[in-house]
Amino acid sequence: VLPGLKDKVAVITGAGSGIGRAAALLLAQQGMKVCLVDLKDDRLEETKQEIELAGGQVITVEIDISDSKRVEEAFEQTAKTWGRIHLVFANAGINGVLAPIEDMKLEDWDHTLSVNLKGTFLCVKHAIPHMKEMGGSIVITSSINGSRTFSGFGMTAYSTSKAGQLAFAKMAALELARYKIRVNAICPGSIKTNIGENTEPTAELEKIKIPIQYPQGNQPLEHSPGQPEQVANLVAFLASDISNHITGTELFIDGAESLL
Ligand code: NAD
Repeated sequence: VLPGLKDKVAVITGAGSGIGRAAALLLAQQGMKVCLVDLKDDRLEETKQEIELAGGQVITVEIDISDSKRVEEAFEQTAKTWGRIHLVFANAGINGVLAPIEDMKLEDWDHTLSVNLKGTFLCVKHAIPHMKEMGGSIVITSSINGSRTFSGFGMTAYSTSKAGQLAFAKMAALELARYKIRVNAICPGSIKTNIGENTEPTAELEKIKIPIQYPQGNQPLEHSPGQPEQVANLVAFLASDISNHITGTELFIDGAESLL
């Protein structure tokens, strides 16, 4: 068990699937009390049951993270249930509509930015009142697309939102250091999850298909996409006391995919 996690409280967004789900299972296994946040989804309930079966303490909150009022209520409910919050894993996100810039509809651009970037801001904003007395850790799931921008076409809205998360994480790390709240961004490469369900390629994408040498998801280390459990390990490390000097950084977890 990693130091500093047992009996502490975590809020995990996007916890019904993929990286968020794997992190929820691992953190609960490490003795954290976990609040699982996601849109209304049967998979959220399944994750909850799996944690309960293993003896963990868990609550679920079904909200859209881009809804400020609901996010605020989710953090209040968690604090009311268990007291102070130690970890926020701001992880929920979508690929959204993929289109060339000239064909990208404003509403589609706005939606991706709204979930990925505004949602991250809201989760951090509403967590602070419940974290600032004791300090803690905030981990934000960005992507290799946020700074190295290697994979995928038509992903300007997505990549912009992921880059925004990196800037936000660094500014937040500086601002929240006075509360002993650490803020770090993680940048996964391709990971096997259900994110395809929230990806909407358009026919116009064909216009910008350029041949690339390496197919997306090719990672020199393993020659295949990573697993959500591998990302969860990094989250647990950043939540725990053994990373207590790490803040304001971006950590790549991509088997060197973004260096190709
Ligand atoms: P996923 O689709 O398996 O899980 C994401 C979860 O977020 C889903 O359960 C979904 O319902 C939830 N969600 C989406 N919109 C939401 C909203 N508005 N409010 C609340 N919940 C919402 O995908 P994943 O791959 O596990 O994605 C997690 C994060 O990892 C995302 O931020 C994504 O951008 C990032 N990421 C993923 C990859 C990858 O290859 N899978 C690579 C880099 C970064």
